[in-house]
Amino acid sequence: MAKVAVVGAGIIGATIAARLIIDGHHVISFEPEPHGLPTSSGNAALIALPEIAPIASPGMFSQVPKWLLDPLGPLTLHWLDIPALLPWLIAFLARATPSHVSQARTALSNLMRTALADHRTLGEAIGLTDHLRQTGYMSLHDSMASLVAAKQEAEQVRELLDFDYAVLTPQEARHLEPRLEGQFAGAIHQPSYWTATNPLTVLRAYQSFVAGRAEMVAERVLRLSQGQDGITVHTPTSAALFDKVVVAAGIWSRDLVRPLGTKVLLETERGYNTTYSDLGWNLNLPIGFADHGFVATPLVDGLRVGGAVELARPETSPNYARARAMRIKMRRYVPSLPEGGTEWMGRRPSTPDSIPVIGPHPGDERIVHAFGHGHLGLTLSAVTARLVSALISDAAIDIDPSPYELHRFGQKNGRLAGSRNAPRQPG
Ligand SMILES: Cc1cc2nc3c(=O)[nH]c(=O)nc-3n(C[C@H](O)[C@H](O)[C@H](O)COP(=O)(O)OP(=O)(O)OC[C@H]3O[C@@H](n4cnc5c(N)ncnc54)[C@H](O)[C@@H]3O)c2cc1C
Repeated sequence: MAKVAVVGAGIIGATIAARLIIDGHHVISFEPEPHGLPTSSGNAALIALPEIAPIASPGMFSQVPKWLLDPLGPLTLHWLDIPALLPWLIAFLARATPSHVSQARTALSNLMRTALADHRTLGEAIGLTDHLRQTGYMSLHDSMASLVAAKQEAEQVRELLDFDYAVLTPQEARHLEPRLEGQFAGAIHQPSYWTATNPLTVLRAYQSFVAGRAEMVAERVLRLSQGQDGITVHTPTSAALFDKVVVAAGIWSRDLVRPLGTKVLLETERGYNTTYSDLGWNLNLPIGFADHGFVATPLVDGLRVGGAVELARPETSPNYARARAMRIKMRRYVPSLPEGGTEWMGRRPSTPDSIPVIGPHPGDERIVHAFGHGHLGLTLSAVTARLVSALISDAAIDIDPSPYELHRFGQKNGRLAGSRNAPRQPG
């Protein structure tokens, strides 16, 4: 049993803390905003098991220039932030190759294989059941070219993960969701998607399990320092020594990790949505508007419409016109969608290769990273928690951890990437 600090209590930190407690560790959780609404609270609620395609791909080059010209389109870049984003953008473009895409597919598939079972096991262990429903998912495609590309993707997913799909005519799509109107070429239906009742409810359930069994320090971690006796966690009012530390602070993880001499490429793909709680109707299943980069998800207590990607620094002011643009676009397909609802912006902590960072600091195994889950943090939270707990406990696990380690971003400060050359934990 180790004394472990978990930094951050979004869905990644909260599930990790819960898993570590269940596995017998002495956990202290650090979260400056225990009642806050981080990215984990307001996402699209999908357990998106078939989503193994990285964002950077050779195919994106035909789409991206068109998208970038539309300030409210599926992908935008906050131009004033380009200098800060440049190293990430260069790495992102460099990964748009067939071999990188194939590596990312394999890495994400290996997590997806148990992601649902891990959610169920961890949920049951904390008394959370019925929080996931097998809703399936339907993507709508405006053109035949888009439909054919999506079918090819679904076929690859079937080969790798054995998840089924069906290509639907517009009439068949309307049969599944009678509210659909307007023109589209067809749809892909994938039954293997699940949906959380509400991401906030799930997050709060994990946070309260942790709060009931471990100390939760409502302070920001300012820095970590390595010593012979352990890792010291520094907050504005305290400095406490731990055997091990898990860094799971979403996009802010980079501020804690970079001073430890590691190179980490992590930026925010910001997303926007609108949640309606009083429509009086809901969709039968989540629907993706594939050519516009957003999704409409029926939650148990409302409808959430949003998505898109805005590459910007985390602290840049939100542009809620993006949420409105998605509402307007959705009316092409569902004219009964009214104005109103609550707008929200979240910060996906994203790596250039769409693979999360899960694993030890390249030079000090006492520090374990768990961030960079991008579009898939809810989906991959429980499997990440199992992997992190195995690393902390030095236990065997059925997942090869190497694709998720930080050393794939290269070396920094003269330290050889992948070396294990820092002081070892005593005992
Ligand atoms: C519009 C949108 C839709 C999405 N839809 C889906 C979806 O359908 N399915 C899916 O799987 N994923 C989805 N995602 C992605 C998912 O929400 C994220 O990947 C996930 O929330 C990241 O979780 P996290 O715990 O790493 O980060 P966060 O939720 O950002 O949590 C990080 C926590 O760390 C805390 N923190 C920060 N700094 C410190 C510090 N110094 N010390 C201590 N604590 C600190 C913060 O206060 C915060 O609570 C979506 C994201 C967006 C924006």
